[in-house]
Amino acid sequence: MVAGQLRANGITDARVLEAMAEVPREEFVPPEVRGAAYDDRALPIGRSQTISQPLVVAAMTQALALGPEDRVLEVGAGSGYQAAVLARLCESVVTIELDPQLAASARGTLERLGVANVEVVAGDGAEGWPAGAPYQGVLVAAAAAEVPPRLLEQLAEGGRLVAPVGPEGKDQELRLLVKSGGELLLRRLFPVRFVPLRRAPGRS
Ligand code: SAH
Repeated sequence: MVAGQLRANGITDARVLEAMAEVPREEFVPPEVRGAAYDDRALPIGRSQTISQPLVVAAMTQALALGPEDRVLEVGAGSGYQAAVLARLCESVVTIELDPQLAASARGTLERLGVANVEVVAGDGAEGWPAGAPYQGVLVAAAAAEVPPRLLEQLAEGGRLVAPVGPEGKDQELRLLVKSGGELLLRRLFPVRFVPLRRAPGRS
């Protein structure tokens, strides 16, 4: 895919470029937009949700600087595409999806493609998934006013978390937080626009 396009936009990590080339993006989008699977834009995946544009997927993945033994948590599985890219670069991925229909569909796609090291959990990602913690990488694929504190708790020492932060429907910024000596170092990456992180029904 679009390796030239990714490289021209700052994606330099060879393992990330390889993972982006290997994961078949068209398998994760609905049939009616399959022809646009490799366009440089976000696409609808049903249930009012979107799969991020390839460059954003690649940049978030690169920001996590994953090693082969790392465990990763994703919030917002959506189609399962981002999780499949992460899964090629680390030991295992837990990805949480609030919408049970999307969770089931992502699980089905990943199984069909033989991606064995991703677990799709249906639930509220703001709570994280303590059973698998600590995680060396956390990727949040939906925007909130602040990074949910539980996710920071579940981040390993030296671990990296990447998340869009900002108001709904407006420009948000992609933030990278690195846990170092118990502190969080912040780097602002670039402006993005993500769907909102929703609250689970019954939670205030
Ligand atoms: N990473 C996905 C795209 C994510 S779009 C992909 O590669 O296709 C954001 C997703 O976050 C949506 O599917 C939405 O349903 C989900 N979401 C929103 N709020 C959530 C929450 N509190 N917990 C888990 N998932 C949530």
